[in-house]
Amino acid sequence: MDGYFDANATTPPDPIAVEAWREAEREYWQNPSSPYRLAARAHHMLEDARKRLARILDCDPRCIVFTSGATEANNAVVRHYANRRQGVIALSAIEHPSVREPARAYFGDNCLTLPANDCGVVPTQTLDRLRPGQPCALVSVMAANNETGVLQPWQAWLDACRARKIPLHVDAAQWFGRNPATGLGQVDLVTGCAHKFGGPRGVGFLKLPSANTDFRIQLGGAQEAGHRGGTENYPAIAAMLAVLEKRSTAVEARGKAWALARHKFENRLLQSIPGIHIIGRKVPRLANTSALLMPQHPNSRWVARLDKKGFAVSTGSACATGKEGPSHVLAAMGISQDEARRMVRVSADWDTPAEAWTALATAFEACRDELDSDSHRPATTVIQLPA
Ligand code: PLP
Repeated sequence: MDGYFDANATTPPDPIAVEAWREAEREYWQNPSSPYRLAARAHHMLEDARKRLARILDCDPRCIVFTSGATEANNAVVRHYANRRQGVIALSAIEHPSVREPARAYFGDNCLTLPANDCGVVPTQTLDRLRPGQPCALVSVMAANNETGVLQPWQAWLDACRARKIPLHVDAAQWFGRNPATGLGQVDLVTGCAHKFGGPRGVGFLKLPSANTDFRIQLGGAQEAGHRGGTENYPAIAAMLAVLEKRSTAVEARGKAWALARHKFENRLLQSIPGIHIIGRKVPRLANTSALLMPQHPNSRWVARLDKKGFAVSTGSACATGKEGPSHVLAAMGISQDEARRMVRVSADWDTPAEAWTALATAFEACRDELDSDSHRPATTVIQLPA
């Protein structure tokens, strides 16, 4: 697994998560809502998981709703505020599609885009784009960008939104398990998902502003205090909590180790591949992420070459892999479409050793030589011999 450098897409399961999942499937498979003692044990474990997550976030456990992941939670937040509050949604230009698309669908023309600067940061001053007295139903600014790794000043956003009495939503899918969660529980609405920090895919959570909101994600059942109908996936929730607790205690040390290995990796490439540009290098970034603008050759060719050498890297987000056109994140930073097609994202997993970063740098250099020589090789000409 040492060649896996696409942790911002998803992460391999941490053994502690797998063990917690197995135990929960074995011991607590019952429906937590069933009315007998056997099921009460599962219910108790589920509520215990809620308290453990609330402890990490430092919030009231009744504000936590377990979901199928960040996409579900982001959709639900945008839909709720479109239905309940007057005014525009102000969302950063670099939000994940799971915020952008519902914003367009539910708010229509009432979307105010908060621009990013050329480092990929969305400053709170951009909220001045609201006209005086213009109602704003919700502000949505992510904690860390999935493509560039650039961290957003969500603490400052919290102050700015409080001053204007506007609820703030922070998509923290890329933040949890990579940075301390301290203070996030103060934010009105926070989304997270387990598969970015060593937990299973298809499970996540939403932190609500208060325990008593009429917030409904899904109708059709009284589960999750009526916020989300449907039988809870306790084994996945147990796995998510086991790994999040483990990583929360070690996240600062891990961050330092990542930053050191990445620093050496980036410095080496800056020396050996002239013209390479590292996105967001001047501002705080996720320490596991390096977003590289290669000087030549389309990113798909770098990805394919590195793949052959045993390294999994990415061209950005899944949405930037050709499915939805060029990256809106890079465009928001003023990066041209032509440059964006040369962007390669490297994102290390929790257990990626420092030596793997060194091996990846060597592989980049070898790929550069191969791609350069391919592009210098003359096109094959077919010589027609007389019959
Ligand atoms: N938000 C961000 C910032 C993400 O990076 C992702 C995952 O790619 C999501 C939301 C969607 O998360 P999920 O896969 O849990 O729906």
